[in-house]
Amino acid sequence: MKTKENIKTKKEALTAQKNMAYLGLFNSIDHNKEGIIQPYQFWNELKSHGILVDDPRLKDINDNFKKEKLKNRKGITFELFSKCIDQSILLTKSLKGELVIPDFKSFTDEITTIYNKLEKNLSGSVANYIPQLARVNPDQFAVSICTIDGQRFDYGDFNTDFCLQSTCKPINYCIAHESLGESVVHKHIGREPSGRSFNEMALNNDGLPHNPLINSGAIMCSSLIERHAPISDRFDLVMKTWSELSGGFNPSFNNSVYLSEKQTADRNFALAYFMREKNAFPENTNLIETLEFYFQCCSIEVKSPSMASAAATLANGGVNPLTGKNVFNSSTVKNCLSLMNSCGMYDFSGEYAFKIGFPAKSGVSGAMMIVIPNVMGICVWSPNLDELGNSVRGVEFSKMFGERFNFHNYDSLINSNDKLDPRKSKYENKIDGVISLIYAASLGDIDEIKKLEARGIDLNSADYDGRTALHLAASEGHKEVVEYLINRNTTANLKDRWGGSPIEDAKRSNHRNIVKILEEYLSNQFKSENK
Ligand code: GLU
Repeated sequence: MKTKENIKTKKEALTAQKNMAYLGLFNSIDHNKEGIIQPYQFWNELKSHGILVDDPRLKDINDNFKKEKLKNRKGITFELFSKCIDQSILLTKSLKGELVIPDFKSFTDEITTIYNKLEKNLSGSVANYIPQLARVNPDQFAVSICTIDGQRFDYGDFNTDFCLQSTCKPINYCIAHESLGESVVHKHIGREPSGRSFNEMALNNDGLPHNPLINSGAIMCSSLIERHAPISDRFDLVMKTWSELSGGFNPSFNNSVYLSEKQTADRNFALAYFMREKNAFPENTNLIETLEFYFQCCSIEVKSPSMASAAATLANGGVNPLTGKNVFNSSTVKNCLSLMNSCGMYDFSGEYAFKIGFPAKSGVSGAMMIVIPNVMGICVWSPNLDELGNSVRGVEFSKMFGERFNFHNYDSLINSNDKLDPRKSKYENKIDGVISLIYAASLGDIDEIKKLEARGIDLNSADYDGRTALHLAASEGHKEVVEYLINRNTTANLKDRWGGSPIEDAKRSNHRNIVKILEEYLSNQFKSENK
């Protein structure tokens, strides 16, 4: 019956339940059980989930804490904590480990390991076609990550500015696409990998640039962005877009890079005239203004966290994860990522798509923007380039990252346990490994068992019921597996939760050959232990 009294009790019960949950979260931060937590403890806890103190989504809460601290000098009470949690779904999700990378700490440990290995790699050389790039310290190396939930991680030289160079190309394509749409943009630019060098004097059979991510295509995109507006407004639009992509951090502009680019641009001028000769540009395009605009875009500077946030915006279908700002439509992003996937890495694009298999764009400043759709954006910046113009460490990072995690476009087709899925919670990868091992043993799949062993799965692992691979292999009569497992010195007398051992399983199922093998193994073990 819906009496007033009933409703009231139900409400009270719900509030009590919520309070219990909040108290659990509060206690997990209040390590000293003082009933009060300090703002730094709160932010440290959030940082372990990838949520940083300057997160624009938590600005009000941060301000509130500061005010409260000034007022009562003590810290954050449970009451204030509950009020904040009520205000922010982000806080609840972070503290409960429900963000897209639930175990962010283990994930970033993996990234740090990759970084440390790559730090020693000093091969390649910096771009030297302009002095401003030739003078950059080649040892610098930054990796930044931003997930679609705004979990961030920065490592290395992430406080140093670098210029966008070719990483401006996918964004300029998006800006043009956003206002003109696919059909208009692609009336002027193709979407095929060129198979040629990025600044090669070549157009496709229609006399158009092959795609927007090589120089001719990027010059064309520049001519399409707000083409009727004054050039200053067009540049402002690009800067504003980068600021929105960065989650509110403002990009800067390197005037000397711009001046140098302009002075050494014979090839880009030649490409533009070549395209004009083929009538590729929209009518009344001012060529010089277009080229200068393109050089200016290449000379915009950001830091790696901003580029990671831009990549995360693409990964998130055009919505910046830190501000919630819808920067691009998802259809624009879909087209951009398709192009990054096929054409983003200069003459290495095919190989990158084949081997590594996620969209990326590199630039001659050593910058690289990597997109893992629906998961995260990554920026790697390291100025030393290989012969193809890609950052050496950027490519190596991609390889190692792709070998460790299952983010190749088609990894989902392969039912392999060789790679980690950081979208899974802390123990899920491990549990998956144990379950696969036991399942493989029950089917007699010795190759799979070897693979899992190579991945570090302990052959003695047991499932929730205490059943091990040896139990299953013995019970199902898979002699080869039993032999393999005992040759690997597994423990043969582990008991499951009903007290059963592998040999009992073999007896029960009438696998006499296995009973014999196990008896021999156990007696040898016994003898050697009692020598
Ligand atoms: N500013 C360079 C050019 O247009 C960009 C080169 C690059 O990063 O690919 O030549």
